[in-house]
Amino acid sequence: MSEKGMILVISGPSGTGKGTLLEKAMTINPNMKYSTSATTRKPRAGEVPDVSYFFKTEEEFNEMIESGEILEWDEFCKNKYGTPKTPVAKALEQGIDIVMDITVPGAMAVKEAFPEDSVTVFILPPSQEELERRLRGRQTETEEEILRRLAASAKELEAQDLFQYKVVNDNLEEAANELLAILEENKKKR
Ligand code: 5GP
Repeated sequence: MSEKGMILVISGPSGTGKGTLLEKAMTINPNMKYSTSATTRKPRAGEVPDVSYFFKTEEEFNEMIESGEILEWDEFCKNKYGTPKTPVAKALEQGIDIVMDITVPGAMAVKEAFPEDSVTVFILPPSQEELERRLRGRQTETEEEILRRLAASAKELEAQDLFQYKVVNDNLEEAANELLAILEENKKKR
């Protein structure tokens, strides 16, 4: 039987480059699968439904919670985000590693649900200036939304010590390899 998979739980401020970093990590390690979340947020340009997110109405999202399909959920900048439960359980049994990019409370909830089979990593931007530059550079949010995300990021940074590891997303390739090394180390320790 193959070894059980492990969950790599990532949090970090909006604009830290988490998406690009995880894509890079998944190209280096094809045995790692991204946990697609459900959200009530509207799709951004370039996002692919059911790949980037399962885009849901408020009503559909609430139904998912009530039917027990959601492992954890949180509210961020007035939208709801949640992790579907079944794909995670299935992947772990099949020996596939899961990576999720979720909020700090979400990461803590996953750690509590899977104490042995998860590892939490906080992603740091190289600097506050770089974070703001990246957030503005992607041109997918309004100014109001950018300001809201910058305020949220300051709050999120305060929570970094709750995580088992911290990785600075400065050099993409190095940061991706660091993430994969953390995952392997924790699989061995288990
Ligand atoms: P974005 O709107 O930029 O895609 O995501 C906003 C925030 O929601 C990010 O911090 C992201 O990590 C978080 N997020 C995405 N999916 C989930 C989820 O399933 N659960 C929780 N708790 N947070 C999520």
